[in-house]
Amino acid sequence: MSDNAASAFLPPDAARALLDRWAAVRARVDGAARAAGRDPAGITLVAVSKYHPAVSVAALVAAGQRDFGENYVQEALRKQAEVADMTGMGPDALPGAGGEGPRWHFIGHLQSNKARDVVGRFALLHTVDSETLARKLDQRLAAMPAQGAGGVPPVQDILLQVNIGDEAQKSGVDPDELPALADAVLALPRLRLLGLMCMPPIFDDGEASRPFFARLRELRDGLAVRMGLPLPHLSMGMSHDVEVAVAEGATIVRVGTDIFGPRPARG
Ligand SMILES: *Cc1c(COP(=O)(O)O)cnc(C)c1O
Repeated sequence: MSDNAASAFLPPDAARALLDRWAAVRARVDGAARAAGRDPAGITLVAVSKYHPAVSVAALVAAGQRDFGENYVQEALRKQAEVADMTGMGPDALPGAGGEGPRWHFIGHLQSNKARDVVGRFALLHTVDSETLARKLDQRLAAMPAQGAGGVPPVQDILLQVNIGDEAQKSGVDPDELPALADAVLALPRLRLLGLMCMPPIFDDGEASRPFFARLRELRDGLAVRMGLPLPHLSMGMSHDVEVAVAEGATIVRVGTDIFGPRPARG
């Protein structure tokens, strides 16, 4: 861990506090992995930076954190550019793009009319939840130039967000409709489906999330068999329930508050 690198961006006290919280979260994830007999290296920690300033992201990039999550398209794109300016490292977006830059994850609700703004700009879109959106993404990718010397067509890695608590106001596909959506996505050549994501109803006690996480894993396992695909990723677990998520099979956890502190007002 490189405190000096982080203090290029933040006052020393703030840099130390940030790095301490980050290290504590990583230790919680690693401990939960070992307790479950899993390899900690198989779990990606996404630092959720929504509402937090680019300098805080830059400080973590300098310290070695690679994955960052954002919820709002305009805020995310602005921050990507700011972090690239500050660190000299551009986003490492599409698979195969290579590079050492930050990998940005889109984890907020995604409207179909924003498809054009996100394709190719995020390493992973966690929140695809309708066929309309999937088709828009695929169309936008088709209109993008081929990548690299070999002229490889761009492919976007995605997860399907499942409304795991059957909550009326939540985004995500209903579990009943998940197989049909997965079939539709599979027919779109520019989207690569890697797994599922969920956000259970929030309770103070992280244990309350356990049945929802277990259900997402079962849905993934069933879908993988049905489709003959590995579907390696389960994106689940936040500040208050990250250990439970890891115990239930999360491969990607999304932690904001316990890394960056309380979120400032949106701006
Ligand atoms: C904000 C957010 C998080 C992080 O939540 P914390 O409680 O701050 O850790 C994770 N996932 C999603 C989808 C979010 O919107």
